[in-house]
Amino acid sequence: MSYRLDQYLTLAGEGSRSQVKQFLKKGLVQVDGITEKQAKRKVLGNEQITLNGKPVYYEEHCYLMLHKPAGVVTATEDKKEKTVMDLITLQQKKDLFPVGRLDKDTEGLLLVTNDGELAHRLLSPKKHVDKCYFTRVTGQIHEEDIHRFKEGLDIGDEKKTLPADLEILSSGEISEAKVTICEGRYHQVKRMFEAIGCKVIYLKRLSMGSLKLDPALEKGAFRKLTEEEIAALL
Ligand code: URA
Repeated sequence: MSYRLDQYLTLAGEGSRSQVKQFLKKGLVQVDGITEKQAKRKVLGNEQITLNGKPVYYEEHCYLMLHKPAGVVTATEDKKEKTVMDLITLQQKKDLFPVGRLDKDTEGLLLVTNDGELAHRLLSPKKHVDKCYFTRVTGQIHEEDIHRFKEGLDIGDEKKTLPADLEILSSGEISEAKVTICEGRYHQVKRMFEAIGCKVIYLKRLSMGSLKLDPALEKGAFRKLTEEEIAALL
């Protein structure tokens, strides 16, 4: 894909179209080390472009990892509630959206992107992308529940759930476990635990496909995915 140089600078967040045209006129923009004053100059984005000597980058696709805290809704906008997008404090976030949905009281990994194709692939029911959650529940989790999760549970839908992995971390009045599911049904993890007589009191998503929640990322914070994380997802 090629861009006009003024368009590229605008997309990179360097100013409005008229502002960047002024920068160009003033000779502040260089392409591969040579001053360029023509707004209509075509660039591919693989050139070294600088403004005032500082590199300018525009990436068509943006991939962010958000550590969703409880208390915010997974939506791009909401009339009453704070949304996950309110936590993305980027200047250019117009086309970004969360991939999939976590309940308001669920914490953890949420991918935010403007790459519709990737989102579609990750969410497609046919692709069976694994999602791993840490959960704390009331009531005991028994060894036989591992088998029940594997066999599929009746959670009140037309079909039983697909095989899921249950790893019991502790069992007692309050129990903890890791569960990995490959679907994305409404309140799925909560309903699966309900089906074995437990109530989820805390839920946190740890991973989605190859992407793992960065333990250094604080609740409410986000960061760009690394090249490696992006390559593994695509
Ligand atoms: N399952 C749930 O019940 N809630 C979530 O937020 C995610 C998975």
